[in-house]
Amino acid sequence: MTTNLFHTISELTQTRLAKAGISLRFGGVSKAPYTSLNLASHVGDNPAAVSQNQRIFSAQSGIHELKYCRQIHSDSVLNADVVKTSFWNGENQNVPEKTGDALISAQQGDALGVFTADCVPIFILDTATPAIGMVHAGWRGTLARIAAKTLAQMKASFGTITKNCLIHLGTSIQQCCYTVSSDMISQFVIHFGSAVHNGLNLSLQTANFCQLVEAGITPESISISPFCTACCTDKFYSYRAEGEQTGRMLSFLQLTDTN
Ligand SMILES: [Zn+2]
Repeated sequence: MTTNLFHTISELTQTRLAKAGISLRFGGVSKAPYTSLNLASHVGDNPAAVSQNQRIFSAQSGIHELKYCRQIHSDSVLNADVVKTSFWNGENQNVPEKTGDALISAQQGDALGVFTADCVPIFILDTATPAIGMVHAGWRGTLARIAAKTLAQMKASFGTITKNCLIHLGTSIQQCCYTVSSDMISQFVIHFGSAVHNGLNLSLQTANFCQLVEAGITPESISISPFCTACCTDKFYSYRAEGEQTGRMLSFLQLTDTN
């Protein structure tokens, strides 16, 4: 039996307009502490192992060409046009030139990626245009409202209307494992209301959910992964649970090529 290397985001893929998923941590060749399907080249892992993992992942997922940024926990949203394609089905140098934390595209066949190990990957599918947005939102990005800014950029670039969007908040650290300072809780409550916390435990999912609803997304259009990265380090990488030296999962969103 072949090991499944990623979770499919069925809420988005069932539209047949896009292919969406998030990689898991097994089935690759990286050694500890990156065991084993680390797909990110910026975390200190052996480059040859990362390239091999990317080829393994590409062969199973069908994602051969991917666009992604050097992520910096900003609120910077880029159009995929300005980003070089990385090829994962051959030898790849994997050094993204552009910095940013969200990408958008209305180009058929474009596959967008973000890397995470606790932060929230946010998948946006505009089913009418169609168009896609892929967002990396940790606590900084969430406070900076990068998800809402990505929607605004999709509206400006493609005419995206929020009521036509389906959104998925991907696997990330959840409230059960995300204890933060009282200062940080206060900041989040000011921005997103008191539902974002339970004591000192913060829910980035709830903060992003509130942000998206405020931006005009209907609550029924937002799905949320039930998994917590820090609770399940057998399946996922977690920066919180494992420390600085760990791998990254890839979240990918590809606009289906209908030609
Ligand atoms: Zn947890």
